[in-house]
Amino acid sequence: MTVEDRIAIVTGGASGIGAGIADVLSTAGATVVLADVDEAEAERVADDLPGEAIGVEADVTEPAETAALAETVVDEYGRIDVLCANAGIFPSATLEELSVEDWDRVFDVNAKGVFLSVRACLPHMREQDYGRIVITSSITGPLVGYPGWTHYAATKAGVLGFMRTAALEVAASDITINAVLPGNIATGGLDDLGEEYLEKMRNSIPKGKLGTPEDVGHAVAYLASEDASYVTGTSIVVDGGQTLPESQLA
Ligand code: NAD
Repeated sequence: MTVEDRIAIVTGGASGIGAGIADVLSTAGATVVLADVDEAEAERVADDLPGEAIGVEADVTEPAETAALAETVVDEYGRIDVLCANAGIFPSATLEELSVEDWDRVFDVNAKGVFLSVRACLPHMREQDYGRIVITSSITGPLVGYPGWTHYAATKAGVLGFMRTAALEVAASDITINAVLPGNIATGGLDDLGEEYLEKMRNSIPKGKLGTPEDVGHAVAYLASEDASYVTGTSIVVDGGQTLPESQLA
């Protein structure tokens, strides 16, 4: 996969799936900028990557911070080839518990954060007539429902509509916009769910185990590569078969 010498931004790169994406891209020869609200952790993860990498502070909900992120990367490296719009939060709340503030916060990070990250990087990609944008959606929302995550599901389905429409807007250039839909991936974000729930999760996955951040990273790396130039406006499901319908005859 040709991401060698490409300049890649990974939002939410300080942990979990973002760190896994960064690791796969870095191993494949890309220079990686990990952008996160947790700057110290982003720097720590960057230091452990095999290739050139830096960690920077950026809150994807803030227009000024996403714009500054893109400017910093262009100042430092001259271009932005890849944007992995991955930062996201997934607090759970039933419909009865869900406040307007909770709803807005999840939309701010998971939906507005994707828009602002793309908007900040796109002019640079237009100028160089090259770009690969990969959005981290989820199976939750687009493919399945999880009670307790209505707000989250709405953001993850919403970014797919954004992705398809944005892909059309830039289709005549060498810029592509795609998404990955992870299933249940073993990251710190799942720790709060408890061992009993995690066991239920594992049992619901045909492959019998949770995915790893690197499993998602490999799918992202394909969509982020030069080889995927004719793939746009679509998504790759990375869920160990969890959303495959089983035949009633099985
Ligand atoms: P995580 O909590 O391990 O990592 C998320 C990272 O995003 C953290 O480093 C956090 O500091 C950062 N972040 C949060 N708000 C931010 C903001 N406003 N600006 C910049 N950075 C911010 O979670 P994860 O499991 O790695 O999830 C990463 C993405 O994958 C999310 O979009 C999530 O919805 C999606 N996802 C996760 C799973 C899963 O099973 N873990 C499944 C499907 C989709």
